[in-house]
Amino acid sequence: MVLQASGSLETLQPFVRRPLLTAAAGLPGGGGRKEGRKGEDLVLEVPVGTAVFDDETEEQLADLLVAGETAVVAEGGPGGEGNLHRASSVNRSPSSAGPGLPGEERTLRLELKLPVDAALLGLPNAGKSELLAALTSARPRVGAYPHTTQSPELGVAYGPGGEPLRLVEIPPGDKYVRHLDRARVVVYVLDATEPDPAADLARLREIVQARRPAGGPPEVIVLNKVDEPAAAPSRLGYPVSAMTGAGLEEFVAALAEAVRSAPRPEPFQRAPRTRLKPVREATLQVWRRDWGFEVSGPAVERLLERTDLDRPDGFDRFQAGLDRLGVSRALEEAGVAPGDTVRIGTTEFEYQPG
Ligand code: GDP
Ligand code: MG
Repeated sequence: MVLQASGSLETLQPFVRRPLLTAAAGLPGGGGRKEGRKGEDLVLEVPVGTAVFDDETEEQLADLLVAGETAVVAEGGPGGEGNLHRASSVNRSPSSAGPGLPGEERTLRLELKLPVDAALLGLPNAGKSELLAALTSARPRVGAYPHTTQSPELGVAYGPGGEPLRLVEIPPGDKYVRHLDRARVVVYVLDATEPDPAADLARLREIVQARRPAGGPPEVIVLNKVDEPAAAPSRLGYPVSAMTGAGLEEFVAALAEAVRSAPRPEPFQRAPRTRLKPVREATLQVWRRDWGFEVSGPAVERLLERTDLDRPDGFDRFQAGLDRLGVSRALEEAGVAPGDTVRIGTTEFEYQPG
């Protein structure tokens, strides 16, 4: 399965109702040495900024940061062997062919972390939305709105040289704080009319530290609402008024500079590949029939395919393989007796304990 980053998606919402996604299986081959059709690749579009994890192992499998970028996050199974591989001198026209193995099955966790230039982090009512609206053409909802939408408020501001600055508004709380992870700069939006903006700043810094323990991004602090009479003078940050526009120019220049000098994110490098885990464990089944015992299971069938019973050591190798796979033990448990007929696929044997 392949995931592809798309610049036109903004949320992972389409995946919430699609818990199981399976690529179309390959088709069986036709007569006359034809090969079967390969399975289709399943390509799913995800928003730029999607990080992909194996939900079980927590291994990060991909990080899709550029539109059009793709990542293989689960591999299809190896194809089956056609019946030509199985023709032997005794059986010139075998009727069955080896099945393809099922593909890799994984539970993926997709996490969207927007790759923004700056995250505007501030307590409720500090004026983040108002600031975003003043700086960009975005029209976020200002005032006491509960955040019920799936996507955070985004907008593009322009620095003094016309350079675009992608901004996101982050209210504290579980839902959006993950977008702090990739922000190149954090803007702390403080309310100058609050009794203790310094204490608010400390609270907000703790949120960032929890997300980025390895060292936070460069920060810019703004003290908003300086137009209000209740605003106490402070040197804590850039004094601005999102409402009147006072101080915004200086603030944006400082923000642009901070973004310019912020460290570039490291491109994601996937850990060396771990071996594929087959979908189903190779199960072994033994049935008691009135004519004897029937054994089936992908592992034992593959063993039979791989073994050339006409070679002098072929049968011994086959026998050793059966022991290794636990077939002999399973037969014993099922009550097999010497001389009983045992059938694996289309091949029959007489059981002789080793
Ligand atoms: P958010 O929760 O941080 O997004 O805050 P909002 O942008 O929704 O603003 C909360 C309230 O503060 C709204 O009523 C805004 O109109 C008001 N507000 C925001 N910025 C300013 C400002 O610079 N001056 C004044 N006086 N009020 C502001
Ligand atoms: Mg808001």
